[in-house]
Amino acid sequence: MPKKEERCSFCGRPRSETNMLISGLDAHICNYCVEQAEDIIREESKATRDKDFSKIKLHKPAEIKAYLDQYVIGQDDAKKILAVAVYNHFKRINQPPSRNEDVEIEKSNLILIGATGTGKTLLARTIAKLLNVPFCIADATVLTEAGYVGEDVESILSRLLQAADYDVAAAEKGIVFIDEIDKIARKSDNPSITRDVSGEGVQQALLKLLEGAVVNVPPQGGRKHPEQRMIQINTQNVLFIAGGAFDGIEKKIASRIQANIMGYVAAKDQEIDKNNLLQYIAPQDLKSFGLIPELVGRMPVVTYLSPLDEAALRRILTEPKNAIVKQFTQLFELDGIKLTISEPVFDFIVNKAIEFKLGARGLRSIMETILTDAMFELPSDQSVKEFKLTLNYAEQKLSKISKSKLRVA
Ligand code: ADP
Repeated sequence: MPKKEERCSFCGRPRSETNMLISGLDAHICNYCVEQAEDIIREESKATRDKDFSKIKLHKPAEIKAYLDQYVIGQDDAKKILAVAVYNHFKRINQPPSRNEDVEIEKSNLILIGATGTGKTLLARTIAKLLNVPFCIADATVLTEAGYVGEDVESILSRLLQAADYDVAAAEKGIVFIDEIDKIARKSDNPSITRDVSGEGVQQALLKLLEGAVVNVPPQGGRKHPEQRMIQINTQNVLFIAGGAFDGIEKKIASRIQANIMGYVAAKDQEIDKNNLLQYIAPQDLKSFGLIPELVGRMPVVTYLSPLDEAALRRILTEPKNAIVKQFTQLFELDGIKLTISEPVFDFIVNKAIEFKLGARGLRSIMETILTDAMFELPSDQSVKEFKLTLNYAEQKLSKISKSKLRVA
């Protein structure tokens, strides 16, 4: 009797009608069913991955700070102020409409001031992750007034809309981080009569977004043009967090404090920490720096981030939940290799980041440079189960690299 032709256990096709029939213990599967199964898996995992912005949980300020502590090292003042501002903001959004209509709680947009790479973006991003709201980063330096080469301010909201998967209601409760806000300061303290394309005009345009208006947004971003379909977004409940280095603002702070001290003799005794003047930042310093008063008024909460010292950088390497060292350890682990790093290597990396003036941003690129050869070679060698990163090895790998070769994001 001829042997019965094997069939796919899923669709029943005989082997002759398939390109390939794979055999398991008691069953077979054809190439068509494998492909179909793959599609199902992809669809299913996409559905679970897709963001669900419908639930915003109100976290208490202390909970917000505790969450931030898991990802951001130091910056306690900024974390506290941010936690309170975000808490108040979402309390305001969630309050029942009937509640005391005479008292309108105003939005508390914030400005974070601190050198580059001190964690401004990281703070904003981490808050958005906790709250499960759409989040986007906009770079103030590419914005120009309508009619000039560059991006309209509305493009910021296009980005937020994209981050919200085009769910308008979700976007309207999102968080926007505007980076390098200091770069659109007007150049002199006096309001200019001549047009200032990159500075004051952009500030005026931004003001519209911050004021809580209904804004026509081109869904794909870029320039608005007449035939394009627009989406209306109400920015009343969008939280704007602006960040900037504000190079040289210490001078403005110092002269204000100086003037105050001269005004009040009693204040003379007050201890002023001259090494960290940023902690005394006040809205009027931002005006002296060149932000227009209306814009400063719309960002009533101002806080600062301290420069990261050696100890902070050392902690950033290993402590945060997704610390760089943890990430690399996992990368090696996925190849079945146990990565161990000797203590002096951490200090070496921190010192190099300081020497190259790269701050926290440099830590990753230095680590990457040191480990590139190992990450290239070891996966091909099945016998390697462990890699010990020693100071000697690290020094050797970095000795040939100049600062300019380090890719810093
Ligand atoms: P900026 O202040 O310029 O916005 P970022 O927040 O983008 O700086 O920081 C750059 C990177 O440096 C972050 O992605 C993070 O890896 C690291 N980093 C900076 N500051 C901190 C910090 N305080 N705690 C932990 N990591 C930090």
